[in-house]
Amino acid sequence: MLTADVAVVGAGIAGLWMANAVLKAGYSVVLLESNSIGGIQTLASQGIIHGGTKYALKGQVTGSAQAISRMPSLWQACLQGTGPLDLRGVRVNSDRHYLWTKGRFSGAIKGLISRHVLNSDSHLVSPSGYPDVFQNQKISGSLCALNETVLDIKSLVQVLVRFLEDQPSRAQIIPVNATLALIQDRHQNQENSGLTWEAPDQSYHLSAQKIILAAGAGNEKLLTALCHPSPPKMQQRPLKMVWVRFLEPQAAVFCHVVDSGSTPALTLTAHEDKLGHRIWYLGGELAESGVTRSDTAQIQQAQGLLQTHFPWISQTHTQWGVYPVNRAEPWSATGARPEHFYAEPYGNLLVTWPTKLTLVPAMAAFILTQWRSEGIVPQTALTPVSSPKPVLGDYPWDVSTKR
Ligand SMILES: Cc1cc2nc3c(=O)[nH]c(=O)nc-3n(C[C@H](O)[C@H](O)[C@H](O)COP(=O)(O)OP(=O)(O)OC[C@H]3O[C@@H](n4cnc5c(N)ncnc54)[C@H](O)[C@@H]3O)c2cc1C
Repeated sequence: MLTADVAVVGAGIAGLWMANAVLKAGYSVVLLESNSIGGIQTLASQGIIHGGTKYALKGQVTGSAQAISRMPSLWQACLQGTGPLDLRGVRVNSDRHYLWTKGRFSGAIKGLISRHVLNSDSHLVSPSGYPDVFQNQKISGSLCALNETVLDIKSLVQVLVRFLEDQPSRAQIIPVNATLALIQDRHQNQENSGLTWEAPDQSYHLSAQKIILAAGAGNEKLLTALCHPSPPKMQQRPLKMVWVRFLEPQAAVFCHVVDSGSTPALTLTAHEDKLGHRIWYLGGELAESGVTRSDTAQIQQAQGLLQTHFPWISQTHTQWGVYPVNRAEPWSATGARPEHFYAEPYGNLLVTWPTKLTLVPAMAAFILTQWRSEGIVPQTALTPVSSPKPVLGDYPWDVSTKR
């Protein structure tokens, strides 16, 4: 029988962060992952630590937009080693994300900054301060530098895994390639007090005070498998992302391109593939509307948008690919992006969806505060078991096929 204070199911950013946060708070923890470490959405994400700007443009300066506006400084503290987790080993792809407004907001950006609709650290950039990709270009509209860091997500995942692996007496990651079932412990008058599963080599029984479901889209299936009578509803919003690999040197790009409406037509981030080639990763409205297009049509659409907005970027010597992926979130009545993270208890199960990678630290702090107020204290020593080493996942451009 394996024992730990906390069992976390799912090793995307929600599960990895939670496992680290509870470990730091003194609890022992077992993290279970059925696929590869780094999650499904997490390694597919653009890595932007949002400050809420793109929501503010829609006029949605709601409580949630204000809550997210506090996240960049919290992440900054982590990156400098003074936050709730020490992320000094995480690579930063860009310390700024840019907002390039070409349509109705281009003249109004100054007003948005002064009215604090945009984070106070945001400022308009003059041509002499343009990032490399815009250097020597006469671009239309306004370019605003946002206080939004863009992280190299794989390095974030690696740092969070390392902390867990460095404390084998208190934390363990176990690959699970089997259906999980609940252990009912009526003796202690608890609804459930652990998980059990059958691996090819042995049966596992994991007893834990708390079980956190952080399995993204997998939460739905898990809740059904774990026989919860009235599981919380979730929604999946599909995206068809596009990546382009430049076979010749190319500048990095980090920006939302806001054209005629208030939603970014394109959200671009730059990355590197395994061979060191520059990757531009394209999301925004392109990825939302792209779910109805064939892969070929989606790539053509992306090529057209790049040609329109970045005509000086050569598309010869490039390779292209698409990456369909769903955002897994708590259900919202309109089907739109929920405003906040979700962390609700169902018996001893705690069901979580962060909604945004950016919001994960706030979700972890919320959960730990709840536990402290409920008197849930560390009390169980970990009994580690031998298990295969977990495998780290890859970025979309390193796994999806090129055209
Ligand atoms: C294309 C895209 C771009 C995004 N860009 C950004 C961005 O720039 N900034 C931002 O803040 N947010 C962004 N997001 C949102 C962000 O990526 C997600 O909110 C976040 O990654 C969700 O993390 P997660 O750990 O909940 O889920 P996931 O990353 O999906 O991880 C869930 C894990 O649970 C595992 N699992 C599932 N079922 C089981 C089971 N039965 N047993 C064990 N393990 C299981 C899965 O294998 C997976 O590893 C983006 C999302 C997408 C899709």
